[in-house]
Amino acid sequence: MPSRGRRLPDSAVPTWLGADSGWSSAAGRGEGVCAVAADGSALVLLEGVNKSFGDHHVLHDIDLAVQPGEVVVVIGPSGSGKSTLCRCINRLETIESGTIAIDGVPLPAEGKELARLRADVGMVFQSFNLFAHKSVLDNITLGPLKARGTSRAEAERRARELLDRVGLADKADAMPAQLSGGQQQRVAIARALAMDPKVLLFDEPTSALDPEMINEVLEVMTGLARDGMTMVVVTHEMGFARSAAQRVVFMADGRIVEVASPADFFTRPQSDRAKDFLSKILSH
Ligand code: ADP
Ligand code: MG
Repeated sequence: MPSRGRRLPDSAVPTWLGADSGWSSAAGRGEGVCAVAADGSALVLLEGVNKSFGDHHVLHDIDLAVQPGEVVVVIGPSGSGKSTLCRCINRLETIESGTIAIDGVPLPAEGKELARLRADVGMVFQSFNLFAHKSVLDNITLGPLKARGTSRAEAERRARELLDRVGLADKADAMPAQLSGGQQQRVAIARALAMDPKVLLFDEPTSALDPEMINEVLEVMTGLARDGMTMVVVTHEMGFARSAAQRVVFMADGRIVEVASPADFFTRPQSDRAKDFLSKILSH
């Protein structure tokens, strides 16, 4: 049984409270996937990242570079390490070896600097994790007030602007329980945006939603992508991947097995693992 003891602050706590240019992709797809920017301009850069839980090696030598404005969809079977990858990028988990840099600055192990860098990475979880006893507006202003030192007036102005952007301008005073799942997830996106992150990570943001609410969340995400937000999105929503992502990263057994454009990945997967996975998710 792997130890769960070394886990950093739980995903239920927002991170600020818990504290195709330039690619050298000559290796192409399949084996030896190289996803490191040649010119070092990546906004998110992972090099040789390894992560274990006890003796369970969960991430193996992960190299990944995400360019400013790029949308990367991460896809793969359950247990392949997708959530762990996201959690390492914003330091909810520590790593054993390798480096993770945000906008050219390696993530330090701890301290004030880590808190600051971590605030540059927004995260939206499957379970929206809003504070149940706070209004929608307060959920969104909390981070800027506590972690960014923003004035209340400015935080509220920005929160209302973001609520408008996610289509919930009239819900500022509602409590989370009064909202549908899709609305709560849109509030969670507004909350993440309120911190002005450089990159937004989404970990299966629509998996907990009833089917009729999936699109309203994907539409907000597609809008963000169109506006140039840098995004890493764990999802099996192929429509979103095709319309919004520049690249699909396919993970299996803690490794990046394949990197391709959505069109190539969904129609011409190269590896047996990807073919097998796609046949399963496409067959129903
Ligand atoms: P995915 O998101 O692709 O389903 P995860 O990143 O959640 O995969 O998990 C990858 C592997 O790491 C799984 O085998 C899972 O059981 C294990 N794992 C994840 N988190 C922990 C943890 N806190 N403690 C021990 N094992 C974990
Ligand atoms: Mg997961």
